[in-house]
Amino acid sequence: MTRIFSGIKPTGHLTLGNYLGAVRQWVETDQHKADALFCVVDLHALTVDHDPARVRRLSRQAATLLLAAGLEPARCTMFVQSHVDEHTRLSYLLECTASDGEMRRMIQYKEKSARERASGGSVRLSLLTYPVLMAADILAYSADEVPVGDDQAQHVELTRDLAVRFNHRYGHTFTVPKAVLPTVAARVMDLQDPTTKMGKSHAETSGIVYLLDEADVVRKKIMRAVTDSGSSVVYDREAQPGVANLLEILASCTGGKPADLAERYDSYGALKRDTADAVLELLRPVRERHAELCADPGYVDAVLRAGAERARQVARPTVDAAYAAIGL
Ligand code: ADP
Repeated sequence: MTRIFSGIKPTGHLTLGNYLGAVRQWVETDQHKADALFCVVDLHALTVDHDPARVRRLSRQAATLLLAAGLEPARCTMFVQSHVDEHTRLSYLLECTASDGEMRRMIQYKEKSARERASGGSVRLSLLTYPVLMAADILAYSADEVPVGDDQAQHVELTRDLAVRFNHRYGHTFTVPKAVLPTVAARVMDLQDPTTKMGKSHAETSGIVYLLDEADVVRKKIMRAVTDSGSSVVYDREAQPGVANLLEILASCTGGKPADLAERYDSYGALKRDTADAVLELLRPVRERHAELCADPGYVDAVLRAGAERARQVARPTVDAAYAAIGL
């Protein structure tokens, strides 16, 4: 049976980008077609300046939201990365497989380290090695597929390289995984700056729609989205990134194609109104279920405990095999 692994970092509140780019596939497709493991990757949240209490709170909120979005513990394994030691055990072996040059070439590292330096902060070593830990997250579970948004494609590519290199050097140990990207909304952009991705780790702005935003806030953010000069609605990511972003969001919510939808609109106002309606329709049940689950924290704990137990069972043989193969 196909094995699927994916994760989400508790560095901020989950966004519409996380939902359309990743979580929705997990819920609607992945958990039904494969042995799927989904992880709140809390160790990754320590790669940038962090507040311990906030990370703990956001980890729990992410897990609760994944359940609210429709992950079913009977169909998939949901757990928190730091509850399963195999991730860090394997990560070290992969650090001994990767080179510092390939880490420094990672686009996210370049962007995030530049941002940290620009704001006067120091860059944590873990920010550089984070893609190696991500590779360990994936390889420990012998995942065949990694459903992610476009921004993670390079890290999955690196994971493949490390798996192939390790297998070649030390004997076949890892499954070589592949990234699976959604066909639309693989990179949802910030509504106020459609040249930047909508990222939960970015400072909170009105360009980011959070899954737990109140309905009127979501509507306001979408109605105020930056569009482009001109008034015609065409799907062109280069020339009209703001309009293209709205069309992708609408298409992802309704199941249409962005270019086809563009033909139905002759004003930005109508496009924004329909996009807001579609997003609200999609998020309403998630918000309702989230409120119910918050009233039952014991349930979320039990799901995560059972998830970690299963995850350990799956990961341990592969990680043990990697230790033996590398000469330990
Ligand atoms: P973030 O960058 O918001 O902190 P994560 O690194 O936790 O997100 O990523 C969780 C998943 O959500 C990944 O599969 C990632 O590719 C996807 N994702 C994040 N932001 C977006 C976006 N703006 N559009 C599409 N997918 C996204």
